[in-house]
Amino acid sequence: MLHVHSYAAGRWVAPGSGARTIQSAITGEIIADAGNDTLDVQAMIAYGRDVGGPTLRAMTFHDRARMLKALALHLRDHRQTLYDLSFNSGGTQNDHVIDVDGGIGTMLVYASKGRRELPDNQVFLDGDLEQLGRTGTFMGHHICTPLQGVAVHINAFNFPVWGMLEKLAPTLLGGMPAIIKPATATCYVTEACVRIMLQSGILPDGALQLVSGGIGDMLDHLDCMDVVTFTGSANTALKLRGNANLLKNSVRFTAEQDSLNASVLGPDALPGTPEFDLFIKEVQHEMITKAGQKCTAVRRILVPQSASEATIDALRDRLANVTLGDPHEKNTQMGALVSNAQKFDVLDKAALIGSEATRVFGDPENHAMSDSKGAFLPPMLYHCADPDNAQHVHDTEAFGPVSTIMPYRDLAHACTLLNKGKGSLVASVITRDGDVAREIVMQSAAFHGRLYFNNRDSMAEATGHGAPLPHMVHGGPGRAGGGEELGGVRAVMHYMQRTAIQGSPDIISAIGGQWTPGGSVQTDTPHPFTRTFHEVQIGDTLHTDAREITLDDIEKFAHFTGDLFYGHMDEDAAKANPFFPGRVAHGYLILSFAAGLFVQPDPGPVLANTGLDNLRFMKPVQPGDSINVQLTVKAKTPRNDDYGEVRWHVDVHNQDDDKVAEYELLTMNAF
Ligand code: NDP
Repeated sequence: MLHVHSYAAGRWVAPGSGARTIQSAITGEIIADAGNDTLDVQAMIAYGRDVGGPTLRAMTFHDRARMLKALALHLRDHRQTLYDLSFNSGGTQNDHVIDVDGGIGTMLVYASKGRRELPDNQVFLDGDLEQLGRTGTFMGHHICTPLQGVAVHINAFNFPVWGMLEKLAPTLLGGMPAIIKPATATCYVTEACVRIMLQSGILPDGALQLVSGGIGDMLDHLDCMDVVTFTGSANTALKLRGNANLLKNSVRFTAEQDSLNASVLGPDALPGTPEFDLFIKEVQHEMITKAGQKCTAVRRILVPQSASEATIDALRDRLANVTLGDPHEKNTQMGALVSNAQKFDVLDKAALIGSEATRVFGDPENHAMSDSKGAFLPPMLYHCADPDNAQHVHDTEAFGPVSTIMPYRDLAHACTLLNKGKGSLVASVITRDGDVAREIVMQSAAFHGRLYFNNRDSMAEATGHGAPLPHMVHGGPGRAGGGEELGGVRAVMHYMQRTAIQGSPDIISAIGGQWTPGGSVQTDTPHPFTRTFHEVQIGDTLHTDAREITLDDIEKFAHFTGDLFYGHMDEDAAKANPFFPGRVAHGYLILSFAAGLFVQPDPGPVLANTGLDNLRFMKPVQPGDSINVQLTVKAKTPRNDDYGEVRWHVDVHNQDDDKVAEYELLTMNAF
C-alpha cells in the first residue's frame, strides 16, 4: 500500500488522521492512502510567500525559463516511474503519454517561450509606450510584475501530471511559488512527479509544495497577492469561488470545469467525403481516450439531418472494434474509469441522458470487462432525435465514454444547438467550406474557448479536437468555468499584476530596462558596432554624418533593384499622388543609405542583421534632401552562451530635422 505524502514547508508529511483510501481503477482494491488533518496549511502559505517567492522574483524570466527546461528534461528522464504508477488510474499507455509527455512538452514550450518572448529581466513591458504629453517628456507604459503570494492549484483526477505541469510552468515562469492540490483519486502519480522535481535540486526552496488529500482551510488564509486555480466539477467550482475570504480579498480565482463540448459535421462533409471519415475518426478517438474522462471530450455530436443514420452506423462500426480491457495489455485501446465511484456517477448521468435519447451502442451491463471488479464501462453512444426539446443532453456531463448524436436542420440550427451548452471549452467543426466556418464563428465563437476546424487539407498535421496546446488558450465561458489557461505568455500574466506606470522617459527606461525615446543617451563612447554585447550599454547612441540624396541615386537604385514604381520615376504621376510632392526616394533606398551611414565596416562583435521591426516612413525624401541617422541601443537579450540580440532604435531625419523614417534594427552581437 502506498502512503501518499504531502510536501509542506520543506518536509514530507505522511498520511495521518483523516486520511482517505484510494482504489485501483483496474481491480477495485485499495492501493494507497492520502491526507492528514494536521497539515499546517498556514505554514505552507508562509513558506511559499517568504522563502519561494523572493528567490523566484530575484530571477529573470530567462533564469526561470532555463530552470523550466532543466526540470522538464529531468522529468523526461524519469517518466517511466510515472507511466508505471499511472496504470492504477485505469488509463492505457497512450493515455499516460498524453498525461506525462503532454505535461513535459507543455513545460518545454514555456521554457522556450520564456527565452524567446520574454525579456531577460524581472519586469515585463506590456503593449506599446504611450506618449501622454505633447512633446514626449511624460510617457506611459503598462508593466507586469510577479504577484507576491502563492498560487494554489486545485486539480482534477484525470490528468495528474499534465494538469499540474500546465499550470506550474506559467506560474514559475511568472515568478510565483505554487502549492499543488491534486485530486485524491490519482494523487499518487502527482506525488511521484513532485518527488522527481524536488529531488532534482533544480527548484529553489519554497517554489513547489504539495497537498495530498484534503486542503483543510487553506483558502481561508489567502490574500490579495495569492491566486487560486481550479479544475474539476461545476459544483465544486461554485462552492470554492463563493469562499468568503477569497471574495473579501479579491483573490484571483480561475475555474476550468466540465462542459458539454460538441463536434459539428459541416453540411458539406457528408458521407463519401474525406471529411466524413475524419469526423468519425475524431469523435471515436474523443470517446475512448482516457475512457472519455477528458474535460475537452466530445459530448454532443451535431450532424446534418440527412447524415444522421450514416453517422450512427459509421460510429457503431468503429466503436465495435475498440478493445476494452486491462490497460496493461498491449492491444487494449480503452481502459477503466478512475474509480467505481466515478463509474456509478457516469451511469447516473447516462441514465438522465437516456431519458431523452436512445442508446444506439454500448451496454454497460454486458461488455468485455463485465466480470471485472474494476471501473470498466464500454463506449456508450446515444441518439437524441429531438434536441430542441431536450435539456439533459445539453447540460448533463457524463464524465466517461458517453456521447450523444443529434441532428440539425441547417447551419443556424446547428449554431443554436452548439450554444445550448451555455459555454464550452472547445467545439470542433469538420468542414472545407470557409463560409460555413465563418458563419459558425459569427454565431457561436463567443460561446467557446476554442474552435477547432479540420478537413482533408489540415488533417495530417491537425492536433485533435481534444488536445489543449500550450500555445493556444484553454478555458471557456459559462458552463466551462469562465477561466482561461495556457495561450502562450498570456498564461504567465495570470500570475503577475499589470500596473500602469507614468513618468519621464528616463524613469520609464529605468523601470523597464530598455531605452525609451526621449530618454538620455550616451554619445561619447566608441562606435557601438565595435563593442561586444556586454560592453554596449542601453542608451549608447551614434549620430551619423548627413548624406545628400540625388536624382541620380534614385535612378540608379531603381534600375539596380528593378523597382521602377512611378512615385520614384515619373514626376507628373508622382505629383498626382496625394502622398508625394513629386518624385521621391524609395523607402528601401533610405534604409540602405541609413545602413551605409551607421555601419562600422570592420570585422567585429556585430555578427548579423537579423531583422527590422516597426518600420514607418513618415515623410517623403526628395532629390536634394539629405538624411542623417541616430542609432540608439534600446534593449539587449542574451540568446545563448556566445551571443545575444541587440535591438537598436533608429531615427532617420532630413536636413530640417524632420523624422523621415523610424524603425528598430536587430543584430546579433558576440559576447
Ligand atoms: P471535483 O470537483 O470533486 O474535484 C476537483 C478537485 O477539487 C479535486 O482536487 C478535489 O479534491 C478538489 N476539491 C473538492 N472539494 C473541495 C473543497 N471543498 N475544497 C478544496 N478542494 C476541493 O471533481 P472530481 O475530480 O471528483 O471529478 C468530478 C467531476 O468533475 C467529474 O465527474 C467531471 O464531471 C468533472 N471534471 C471536470 C474536469 C475538467 O477538466 N473540466 C476534470 C475532471 C473532472 P479531492 O479529490 O481530494 O476531493
